[in-house]
This record gives sequence, structure tokens and C-alpha cells, in this order.
Amino acid sequence: MPSLEKNALRVQMPDGSFVEIPYFKIKGGFYSPVVYIQAAQHGVELTGVYTIKLLLDSIVSTDVNGTIILVPVANPLAVKWRRHFYKMELGEPYSSYHPHQMNRLWPGKADGNETERIVYDLYRNLVEQADYVMDLHCYEQWIAPAALVNGWDEVSVRLAEYSLLPFIDVYEKSNVHRGMLSYVATEAGKHALTIEHSGQRWVFPDQAKLVHKGLMNVLRYLAVIPGEPIKPKLQLKLRRDKHVDVYAPEGEWIIVTLKTAGEEVGEGEEIAKLLDMNSLKEETIRSPVRGVIYWIGSTRSHIDTRPSEEVQVVLKGEKYRIATIYAVE
Ligand SMILES: [Zn+2]
Repeated sequence: MPSLEKNALRVQMPDGSFVEIPYFKIKGGFYSPVVYIQAAQHGVELTGVYTIKLLLDSIVSTDVNGTIILVPVANPLAVKWRRHFYKMELGEPYSSYHPHQMNRLWPGKADGNETERIVYDLYRNLVEQADYVMDLHCYEQWIAPAALVNGWDEVSVRLAEYSLLPFIDVYEKSNVHRGMLSYVATEAGKHALTIEHSGQRWVFPDQAKLVHKGLMNVLRYLAVIPGEPIKPKLQLKLRRDKHVDVYAPEGEWIIVTLKTAGEEVGEGEEIAKLLDMNSLKEETIRSPVRGVIYWIGSTRSHIDTRPSEEVQVVLKGEKYRIATIYAVE
């Protein structure tokens, strides 16, 4: 059995107080790779915390060849603040420019604001020693789980494939924010993987199980835990692979979703009903292709950040996208 060390970083805040960041270090064997896995950079992305709990339970009872560092809550200030960023106001949009947007602040600043100091200590003490860096996030529940990866690093792309998630988003260097953990890690010669579970604000256990299964497969692929990894089969590349947008017909509708993001659908299969709010007449929305649903229901950007601004209602004259479905040949 591997050794398990439970510890915590103590990060000093500008006012002299300390924030504690618990972490787990699991070590075994003679093989040297270090894998760093963290969750909850954003305060409402909680499913990853549960995924890390599942990983910890699995890893401590297997053989480990290398070191695995688990940080279940990378940003305790934002989690306790109950929003994406520490000090984010109610109704404030998600953005790259908030001074506490943690995933734009890597590798941090020793004398910066609260979040920059947390980032600095995480990076210096835990990330820097890692060969592989995995960062767990959550999309809104209307978007399918996906593995995000920097396309200029082939090893990272393999990690995304072995995560077995249905969608892979391959980034080009010109489109990546320089302060993201995955970018900073890749530039430092590490290999990085970002995972998006589906669903913010509360824990979605099925999503945690799905990502746990995928990360265990990645650890097998890296030979950090024993066993033959499953070879990835059906995976769709976001933006690049063939996909169709499905729009609501003209009318005044309540959207009734019948499928969830990430589900496979057949050609002609019902994915949603549209309910006329006056006559209660129903309109059936079908998938025009056989494929996998990437987005369904609420399809505006960052809808769960400002929940009061998104309701599944289509108004007259609106061009409303009900779903985006990636085709499977
Ligand atoms: Zn996030």
C-alpha cells in the first residue's frame, strides 16, 4: 500500500491572517512521476471536490508507483464566498478580468491579493514539483463534460483522450489566457489537463463518478497505478467536428428538456418539447442527426453565473438555440 500524508498549506493574507489549504500526498514504488490534481478554483464548481474524494478512496487502496498530490479545494475563499470568485458581487458576470478570477492568476504573486497569494503558494509548494497537472472545473449543467487541452503539447492531448470524456476541446496557443494553470504548467514543460464536469452550484454524483473513472484511466495510462488502460473510442473534437445547432420555431415557449448534455441520441429522436404557454400545445424537437448532445436547454454564455437572468423560456421574435449536437458517423 502507498503512504498517505495529509497536510495543509498555510497562506498568509494581506491582513496577516492565514488561509489553510488541505492536501493529500500519496506515494509509493520506485517510479518517479508526480501527478497533481486539484478542484474548486471557482467557488461554485463543487463536483470536483467529490471526484477527488473518490480518487483518494481508490488510490489509497491500490499500488501507487509515483506520487499523487490531491488538493480538493484549491480556492477555499471563493467556496466560502459561494460564488466563482472571492468578492464577486451577486449578478456580476463571469469574466477573465475580476481581480480574484483565480484561473487567470497563475503562477501567483507572493505579495498580491488574497487569491494571488493562494495561487503563489500552491504553485511553489505543490505544482512546481509535478510532471502532470490536472485541474477540475464544472460547466453549467446544460453543457456536456469535456477535457480541455493545449494542442501544442502532444502528451497533454493523450491525457485528454484517456480521460474517456465524450468531448475534447483542443486549444491553440493564440487562444489561451496566459494566467491559466494549464498554460503556465505546459510552458514550464509539464503536461496539463483541464476537466469540466457538467453542473455547477451543487455536487452531481454521476458526473463525479464519470470523471473519477476517466482520471483512474489516465493514471493507469501513466503507469502510476496498475492495470491496463481502456483505449479511448468515441470522442468528439469541439468546434472542429461536424455539429448542428437546433433552433426553436417562432413562438412563445416553455422549454421542456428530455435529454441531458453528454447523452447520445439517434437521428430523429426527441430531445425536447416546446410548450406554448397560452394554448399548452406541444411542439416536438428532434435531433436532426445521430450524435452526442453538447449543449441543451439554456444556451447562453455563463448562464449559471447569473441565474436570475436565465429561464428556459423562448419569447416572440427570439432566435433561441435549443441544442447543439455533434454528429457521429
Ligand atoms: Zn472553473
